[in-house]
Amino acid sequence: MSRVKQNCNECESEYFEDSSEMMGLCPNCSHILYGYPNCKHEFENGNCIKCSWNGSKSEYIKNKDEQNGN
Ligand SMILES: [Zn+2]
Ligand SMILES: [Zn+2]
Repeated sequence: MSRVKQNCNECESEYFEDSSEMMGLCPNCSHILYGYPNCKHEFENGNCIKCSWNGSKSEYIKNKDEQNGN
């Protein structure tokens, strides 16, 4: 079974369409921007095996992340 890949409009990473609640956003960005549940990422060879996100973050996401982070 193959999964459909999309590219995130925010961080430009690829992700599996069915892993995100949002059209056009990877689970990580949809979590940070809109509060949707994030994927519990498990990285293998640079990409999450669950959602295919590659760990990239836009400048906007990085800033958000730092504000929320602790
Ligand atoms: Zn993204
Ligand atoms: Zn993931």
